[in-house]
Amino acid sequence: MPPALLELKAVCRTYTDGEPLTVLKDVTLEIRSGEFVAIMGASGSGKSTLMNIIGCLDSPSAGTYSIRGIDVAGLNGDALAALRRDTFGFIFQRYNLMSDLSAIENAEVPAVYRGVGKAERKAHAGQLLVDLGLGDRLNHNPGQLSGGQQQRVSIARALMNGGPVILADEPTGALDSTGGKEVMAILENLHGLGHTIIVVTHDTDIAAYAHRLVRIVDGRITSDEMQKGETGTLLQAGEPEKAAGPGAAVLGESLKMAMRSLLHNRMRTVLTMLGIIIGVASVVALMAIGNGAKQDVVERIQAMGTDLLTIMRGPPAVRASAEIVTTFLPEDLPFIAGVPGVSMAVPETNLSSLLRFGNQDLTVTAVGTGDKFPEVHDWPPQAGVFFSAEHVKGYAQVVALGQTVVKNLFPPETNPLGQYVLIGSAPFLVIGVLSSKGLTPRGDDMDNSVWLPYTTAGARIFGQRFFNDIVVRVKTDADMTAVQAGLHALMMKRHGKEDFNIRNQADTIAQADETQNTLTYLLAAIAVISLVVGGIGVMNIMLVSVTERTREIGIRMAIGARGFDVLFQFLTEAVVVCFIGGIAGVVAGFGGGLATSAIAGWRVIFTAAPVAIAFACAFLTGIVFGYLPARKASQLNPIEALARD
Ligand code: ADP
Ligand code: MG
Repeated sequence: MPPALLELKAVCRTYTDGEPLTVLKDVTLEIRSGEFVAIMGASGSGKSTLMNIIGCLDSPSAGTYSIRGIDVAGLNGDALAALRRDTFGFIFQRYNLMSDLSAIENAEVPAVYRGVGKAERKAHAGQLLVDLGLGDRLNHNPGQLSGGQQQRVSIARALMNGGPVILADEPTGALDSTGGKEVMAILENLHGLGHTIIVVTHDTDIAAYAHRLVRIVDGRITSDEMQKGETGTLLQAGEPEKAAGPGAAVLGESLKMAMRSLLHNRMRTVLTMLGIIIGVASVVALMAIGNGAKQDVVERIQAMGTDLLTIMRGPPAVRASAEIVTTFLPEDLPFIAGVPGVSMAVPETNLSSLLRFGNQDLTVTAVGTGDKFPEVHDWPPQAGVFFSAEHVKGYAQVVALGQTVVKNLFPPETNPLGQYVLIGSAPFLVIGVLSSKGLTPRGDDMDNSVWLPYTTAGARIFGQRFFNDIVVRVKTDADMTAVQAGLHALMMKRHGKEDFNIRNQADTIAQADETQNTLTYLLAAIAVISLVVGGIGVMNIMLVSVTERTREIGIRMAIGARGFDVLFQFLTEAVVVCFIGGIAGVVAGFGGGLATSAIAGWRVIFTAAPVAIAFACAFLTGIVFGYLPARKASQLNPIEALARD
């Protein structure tokens, strides 16, 4: 004789949460394929506990339970899930349908976990529902169906994967007598088709449908008798199918459930996403602003001329020298101009000075320089002329003004050319106005300057003969490094010590870049912190969601979801929140960046990297912060989950 389909030997079940309570005592029971068994007993006698063990939702505390001769104690969680999925079809007293899914979607779920494609699933579920008389209710949600109709949907669900063994725990308990009779007629019919049916009930009328009646009192089997002849046809319970793996079907279901759940709690979803949106948007916008600022600085430096070398007072790598270097003298200039590759050189000494015209005062930067200044800096006069070599030689009291100075010092419509202005107490004749140059790399207004011969400036205003800097223009075809080395050698020879340092524009750009990068990283760090905060928000809401949906998780596990499938579903939900939040964040980041540029006039430069990084961070946030709640869901005990309201 082949082994019985289901065989319990001396099974005990003791609940140990709280006072130990032994609910099943020494239950020995064999059920063969094709039987129609009723397990009858009073409420609290242990019927559901027994049914949960038979359905592999729970395991015995003592004794053995074998299915087709295989002890289930030796099976892992996935194998048990596969058994529930392919061998058993559960029908519960309270139907246990998922309220967010339509009748057909509810019926489909077990096939999802077997990896059946969507079209095939739909067709099969639809057919089952039509056969059960629900052809006109396919797209109704459980809330729109009567109890009897809901129970029929749950029968369709139990049959979805074949359901060779139907386990019905008080299937009529919540129905009126007509509904109850309908359900029992369906079960009788299924038995006729060869399904093995096990019904738990406390109702003699229901038990009367069965062919075999097992009575249970206080956890012990007290009688076990045939009450009708055995039927002939047997539906052989198939081996658990080695499905290719639910893969795509579970992904589809998970995405669908994620969208349902998120749409179901719109307000909560938006608030949860807000953290991610703000995080991603700030990464995108702040990086764009940072990049814009950096580019601005680079361009300002380049605007000053890329083929310039600046010889500055003071030894290299010393920020503030104790003694003032006074050795940069006019005598150096002809030698510097003679270094091979040097096109021209001008001294520059800047001092903040008070400028006066009439009774109008203005603080400006007075620059004592040479006649070649406009050519060295590509900065031609816009009106009038710049001073000449003769002016320099003759200590002329002439001055050229910047645009800002003209605007702020003179009444409107006054032509500054030919006017006298006072610098300190010395009068200077305005002979030229330079074109506009904009801001220095540090953001100072270069047009708020006046230029005068270094001779006059040294004697009348600064009271010093030496210069601060000497700016050298290198010939376009000359090698910058070689010229720099030449200048270095010359200065060493003339000054006898390294009391100077030479800076080229590449150095200046690199230095400015570094400062700006530090700033940008700082901004990015702030943004990442806000992403993490957003992630914690996601985790929080996901934990709430898992708690709220414990029952749904229990149902899914009862009908064949593996722990991994549940984990995957909740992880998907977290990732979907972060993904949508990420997209919204990128859009908001672009919007915010553009708005900043429009309102504050700042330059913003969007690059792909921060967008990609922010998006990847959001995605990762979903996985990292979704994992804990998802794992919690996947580790729920199905019977406890099902017991939850
Ligand atoms: P029935 O389905 O026959 O009404 P159950 O199998 O549901 O009975 O319960 C049998 C006994 O076990 C009851 O006294 C019930 O209180 C107890 N019980 C059921 N589930 C648990 C549990 N998870 N923890 C502790 N006691 C339980
Ligand atoms: Mg019960």
